[in-house]
Amino acid sequence: MKVRQPTDRHGGTARTDEEGNMAKWEESAAFAARIEESVGRNPWFDCYRTMFPAYKNPASACTAFKLGSTAINTARDAWAMRERAREVWCGRFGDDVSSWPVGHPPVVLWLPIVGQGACLRCTWLHDRRNGRGDLKTAGREARRHSVIEGADAAIVRELGVPVVDREDGLPPSMTEV
Ligand SMILES: [Zn+2]
Repeated sequence: MKVRQPTDRHGGTARTDEEGNMAKWEESAAFAARIEESVGRNPWFDCYRTMFPAYKNPASACTAFKLGSTAINTARDAWAMRERAREVWCGRFGDDVSSWPVGHPPVVLWLPIVGQGACLRCTWLHDRRNGRGDLKTAGREARRHSVIEGADAAIVRELGVPVVDREDGLPPSMTEV
């Protein structure tokens, strides 16, 4: 991101607000394009895109810095957690989607202070604001997605929603919401 520093402290290069807004828009578009170009082909990019939509229009240089560093790591972690949960699910029900008891198995990713509702079939994470929060909230939203996609609500309830945490190598916790 291009950081504009005043070059003349005596007022020689003052810009109007409109010019400032225009410059910010140009920088935001360039930032989003750079993010997409450098990491957009990764399987975890759908997680990033839906968890951090602000990357399209970062409000400040500080936000852009976080979106280009910690946010990327968080999205990578979320994807790795989702993949571990998916392995466990496929170990139980097989790889063939048509043999699954529900087409869009709900899961909660624990990140670890906030839960994120997700799906073991779709690659994005729940982007509704209320898809995040405590375990119950995230679980309810993940379940809602499953039912909207055609699953029988009673079967979803019976299966429970597995919670997967960030610990490397551990299967999803047996805690279900
Ligand atoms: Zn889904």
